[in-house]
Amino acid sequence: MKKPLPEGKIRCDACPVLCFIAEGRSGACDRYANDAGRLVRLDPLTIVDGPNRTLVPFMSGAEPDDWNGDIVKGNRPFVTAIGAGTTYPDYKPAPFIVSQEIDGVDMVTVVTEGIFSYCGVKVKIDTDRHIGDERDVVYAQGEPVGHVMTSEYGSKMLSLGGVEHLTGGTKKEGRATCATLLALCNRAAVALKIGDDTNACEVIVQAGKAPIINGETERLMRVGCGSATIGMFAKQWLDHVDDVVVVDDHITGVLSEHEAGKQLSLEPTGIKIKGRRSTPGRYFQVAQPGTGWGGTDIEDPLTILGPFNPEFAREGLRLLMVSTTGEQFAYYELDDALVPQPRDLPVALRKSTDLIAENCEPSVCSVLFMGGAGGSLRAGVTENPVRLTRSVKETLTHVSCGGAQTYVWPGGGITVMVDVMEMPEGSFGYVPTPALVAPIEFTLRRSDYAALGGYMDAIKAVSQIVEPETRRVSRARSGHDPASAIHYRWSREKDL
Ligand code: SF4
Repeated sequence: MKKPLPEGKIRCDACPVLCFIAEGRSGACDRYANDAGRLVRLDPLTIVDGPNRTLVPFMSGAEPDDWNGDIVKGNRPFVTAIGAGTTYPDYKPAPFIVSQEIDGVDMVTVVTEGIFSYCGVKVKIDTDRHIGDERDVVYAQGEPVGHVMTSEYGSKMLSLGGVEHLTGGTKKEGRATCATLLALCNRAAVALKIGDDTNACEVIVQAGKAPIINGETERLMRVGCGSATIGMFAKQWLDHVDDVVVVDDHITGVLSEHEAGKQLSLEPTGIKIKGRRSTPGRYFQVAQPGTGWGGTDIEDPLTILGPFNPEFAREGLRLLMVSTTGEQFAYYELDDALVPQPRDLPVALRKSTDLIAENCEPSVCSVLFMGGAGGSLRAGVTENPVRLTRSVKETLTHVSCGGAQTYVWPGGGITVMVDVMEMPEGSFGYVPTPALVAPIEFTLRRSDYAALGGYMDAIKAVSQIVEPETRRVSRARSGHDPASAIHYRWSREKDL
């Protein structure tokens, strides 16, 4: 027998927490509230408008069936899952299953705010600076929330969250992880500590903004590695200097030895680089990683040079040393003992360092949400969830998050990745289990939906869903349109 509800309270059944909510109060996640005995979702449902939006007055009082569903003239509104709510337990249909005719094709979008226990973010930080070694632990609020992963070209990468941190550690770790993911996904700034106390680095990460590393705002993402920089700018240096060293933590380049220098007929200069020679003019491990020149720990570039070879070097030989962003540079001429002496940078060379800096892109942090669609989500679409997975793989069903384009990983399940900057602001929520709440939409033809065993009785026209208080947002920068025929296999087959 069911226990009676406490006096004046209603029960929210949108997630496993099953809050009892008193009148006028909200539940533990602040997403649902008790409004005069009615369970209401506090955030408005969000639709994405198409480009060239021309609003048509909403016809209050009109019968939904009288209306053709085109709430924005000549446009394609897309009902996202933001504010749609969640279904729990698994066997119920998704909160909204919406139909709309798009270019003569009857399409259905199943929208739900998924509760993701298996989720995290991948963070790309455009910087040369050393922020931690691969596999170093990343902390937030004093708790471990992720780790440093393999660096990419000009960027450091973090993997944060995941089920091990959300559920596999202490309660505190789970909460800190959830709070960190929520903030990052909603584009807020988060302070992270990387590595142990003896060698820790503090990084403030915010999607779409420059990282702040140990209190310093990063400006530029390097133009390339040291070797690539030599290749790109070799011609700029010809006639103005005898040798150039581009200092880089990964691949330091030396013009006179590099293939680019050889092809431009540069003479050997007798330069000696301390480091492991890979191929001509390309050196690894010239210094330790750090926050100095080119992501190394050096402030004085001469420390990576050995004595010049007198067989090739001569007094007056001109040497430029520059970092991969062009922000650090120094110019030297050899004295009669073949020791580099600092000199003012000639104007012609200043132009080349400026050109390197000009070719660098602004440094930003990118945050990609990654999650796996679990039971509630898939069972909210069809009673036969594996058919949904197959339909996604067969490109009959298109997956979006808040209307934004997703990347669906190959292999089993529905594991998606999405750039949070492409999603409407405030797309994410949480539940205290702890888990992240993220919008996810599945769009497909009505006929395909019927074929995979969809909840056909639950389908409603857009006109029945959209209300005057519905939040409208513009399409993302990429202009992604989840209902466009180009995403579906059938449109390509039609062309054949
Ligand atoms: S945490 Fe939120 S979604 Fe879960 S039961 Fe409570 S109010 Fe409902």
